[in-house]
Formats: sequence, structure tokens, C-alpha cells
Amino acid sequence: MTVSCKYCNKVAEHFVPNLGAALCGEHFLAYFYKRVKRVLERAGRGRRILVGVSGGKDSISALYALSALREEFNLEIGAVHIDLGFPGVEDCYEIFERACIRTEVKQHVISLKEEYGFTIPDLAEKVRTLCQACGIVRRYLLNKLAWEEKYDFVATGHNLDDMVYFAFNNLITHNISFLNTLDSVLPPIPRLKLVGRIRPLFWLNDVDSLTYLKVIGAEYCPKKCPYHKETKQIFLKPLFDDVQKKWPQSKVNLITSLRKLVRLSSIMDRREENMRLCSRCGYPTRLEVCSFCRLREMAEK
Ligand code: SF4
Ligand code: ZN
Ligand code: ZN
Repeated sequence: MTVSCKYCNKVAEHFVPNLGAALCGEHFLAYFYKRVKRVLERAGRGRRILVGVSGGKDSISALYALSALREEFNLEIGAVHIDLGFPGVEDCYEIFERACIRTEVKQHVISLKEEYGFTIPDLAEKVRTLCQACGIVRRYLLNKLAWEEKYDFVATGHNLDDMVYFAFNNLITHNISFLNTLDSVLPPIPRLKLVGRIRPLFWLNDVDSLTYLKVIGAEYCPKKCPYHKETKQIFLKPLFDDVQKKWPQSKVNLITSLRKLVRLSSIMDRREENMRLCSRCGYPTRLEVCSFCRLREMAEK
């Protein structure tokens, strides 16, 4: 039996978990862009945005979505691919390159090995969790390049499912203060050389990226990082998917409620607390030496 789109009589080909309903291609695109625009409205028009693109479905979707809205929001967009040294992900770089050509954005590439002499796998025996080190390295390199190239914002492919996981993980590990970054837009802090952060897919589900790429006919790199099974996400995300299947609005409502609580609390003002510039590299940190410089030192030992 064919199902009709929630908003018209066309065949509904795309299930949207947030709506608990299926849409036709046209209404799916309207749904998708409406949520991306909600984020862009907060960042403002005429911004220069650097998109971090691994080649995976989410970062590629963020790149295409921003470039589709480029004129409406008068954006200037660049994209960067960071080679962290994982083996077998060369195809992802090629997909990044083709996406940059198709979207006509400025391309940047950073090789961790060539520029800093180490790779993420080099840290495997030296750090407690590789994913944490990987996150530190990526955030640092994105911010540094964006600052040097005078972008206003760094955009990442984090989506609603990532945010639900992030929020829950910080609650169960008692890292409540991290929740002050639970937002679709974080403004720049120039005195700390901190570029703003924007998450265009903040209100969209994981599967929406796949649907979006299918509808616009774009490729992505399906290869997963070899360490991806080690993350808690593998266990936690399906739990929230089960909840959403029963209550489609649950993820949006959870994040909306948490953001309201954060705004009412004092942790909101603590983003800049104890922040200063690293004594070695001159980029923001809460300690004398930033986490990136410490990882770099660790890799050299
Ligand atoms: Fe980095 Fe791989 Fe962990 Fe993702 S799964 S954070 S790419 S090490
Ligand atoms: Zn429709
Ligand atoms: Zn440093």
C-alpha cells in the first residue's frame, strides 16, 4: 500500500522521525531547509562560514545545505578536510573534493601528520580515550584555520541525535557545565581567538542527512572510522531511537527543555570562565598549556 505525503497527495517516500510521518521529496526539502534556516537566522546574514567536512553523510549534508542557502543568507563558504591519519579513508577525501567543486566553495586541507608530525592512531596507546583526543584535535584545527582565514563561524555536521547523546552523556558523567555548549549557534569570542560555532543540522535527525543527499543526488563517504565501535554512542543512540519511535517529538523536546534550563542557570555565563591563551600556541585554553599542545607533546614521547 502506498502512503501519501503528510502535506500533499504525492507518494511519501521519505520517513521523517521528528514528524513520525513520511513526506514526498518536495516537502522533505522544505522540512529540511526550514530547520537549517532556523539555525542560520540566529547566526545572522553575511557570515563567512568554514565547514569541517570529513566526507561522511552529516558534514557533506551541512555543506550542501549551506551552499543551497548561500544567496538567501549572503554567505561566504569554505570547506576543510582534516586528514587525521586513519588508514583507508582516501575515498572520503575524494568525495570532499568533488563536493567542493559542485558547491563552488573554497577548499582547505590540513594533514595532521604533515603539519604537526603525528596522527590520531599514534595516540592509541597514550591516551585514555582516542575519541576524546580526536575531538580535541579536530576542534583545535578547525578553530585555528578559521581564525587565520578570518571566518566568522566553523560549521560542523552535528545533528539532533548527536546533541541528545551529548546531553545525556554529560548528565550521566556529571559534566553539567559542558551543557552551555548545547546550542545550534555559539557566538565568536575574538579576544580569545575563538571563532563562532554553528551546527546547521541541529534540529534534524541522523537519517534526514541520508534522505537529503538521496533527494538532491549527492554522494557521501560511507566508511566509518575504525574506532567508531568504541564510542558509547553505539549503545546509547538506539535507546533514544526507540523512545522517538513512540514519541516522535521527544528528541526535539528534550533538547529544547535542556536549553531552557541551561539559560536559566548560571552555567550559561561560564563559557569564558577561566579562559586564556595557551602559553605555547596562543590559542584558547582553560589551563596554562592547551589540550592540543599537550597531546602533541605526548605524541612526541
Ligand atoms: Fe575520532 Fe574515530 Fe572517535 Fe570519531 S570514532 S571521534 S573519528 S576516533
Ligand atoms: Zn508532499
Ligand atoms: Zn596550545
